[in-house]
Amino acid sequence: MWSEIIRVVSKQQHFILTTHANLDLDALGSELALDEYLRSLGKEVSILNSDSVPRSLRFVDPERRLRTFSPSRHQSKIQRAEVIFVLDASDGWERVGRIGRALAARAESLQDRATAICIDHHPDPADFAHLTVVNPAAAATAELIFDLITHAGGVLTPSIARWLYLGILTDTGSFRFPKTNLHTHQIAARLIEAGVDPTQLYKEVYEQHPLQLVRLKGYVLNSLQVGGNGQVAWCALDQATLKAFGVSAADLDGFPGLAMQIGGVRVSLLCVGTAKGRVKISLRSDGSVAVNGLAAQLGGGGHPSAAGATVEGDLAQVTAQLVARIEALLEVRP
Ligand code: AMP
Ligand code: MN
Ligand code: MN
Repeated sequence: MWSEIIRVVSKQQHFILTTHANLDLDALGSELALDEYLRSLGKEVSILNSDSVPRSLRFVDPERRLRTFSPSRHQSKIQRAEVIFVLDASDGWERVGRIGRALAARAESLQDRATAICIDHHPDPADFAHLTVVNPAAAATAELIFDLITHAGGVLTPSIARWLYLGILTDTGSFRFPKTNLHTHQIAARLIEAGVDPTQLYKEVYEQHPLQLVRLKGYVLNSLQVGGNGQVAWCALDQATLKAFGVSAADLDGFPGLAMQIGGVRVSLLCVGTAKGRVKISLRSDGSVAVNGLAAQLGGGGHPSAAGATVEGDLAQVTAQLVARIEALLEVRP
């Protein structure tokens, strides 16, 4: 499945890499690893994302390769692109955010269009790219980038190994989510052989938080509500609370799953009021029920055990309605 992509890569010179809005380490690790590999082949590569890198993830990019899309600054770059890689997002051009329209125009241009290549592990891909490799069994897009680089005969440099490991570490919730399997661990072993220090990377991701973020975690744990016969746990977090703790909504990685620590909880819901007055919904499941269908009904998506959406509406109302829908999904009484 990689040969066609490898053939396109060998023929072209100008590449753009992008990913979904609401950046995470699988998205960024996959981009940075592919960027370094392509540059090792002498290609010209730009990583352009709709969102800027949240403070908590900046450590991943010491050389500042990640750029936030600006229509005026990047239009000529997009015009020159011969290949556009869309990583960790397969819902279509809208999922990549603001930059989506400009990239879609380049990929759909009647004369001399760029080749769009989608590599992802979310289920139910949209048909928007010219070449698509989507494997929902993969625990992270970084696993697929590992496969691509190794199939192409590329070298796993220490930095490529580090970025891929960060993607896998975080998208598997430290090797515990249901998609974690033998292949995931085999890849991790290869990355450790290539120079990754698991203890060091764990510390960089999970043990460098500001005090206020850890205090906010305490607040969320204290505010959890449980219903549906003990099978649903939820929390609504408003902007005022985020402001009071000095934490941004983009830095809440790991929060949606906190309630899964409680025995008997099958679905956990975190609703966060955003600065733009919308509600960002995060759903997690223990694997006994798929929550991505519900997220898709709300205009979002995701994996069976981790999904999300962003909707208009009042925080408390959205939360209450969702709890009711989850209880219906689980066929439990409130
Ligand atoms: P989150 O709850 O933001 O950590 O997201 C969990 C999963 O749901 C990730 O795989 C996301 O890619 C997916 N997801 C979250 N929000 C959206 C959205 N608005 N559209 C599509 N997928 C989403
Ligand atoms: Mn992602
Ligand atoms: Mn991912």
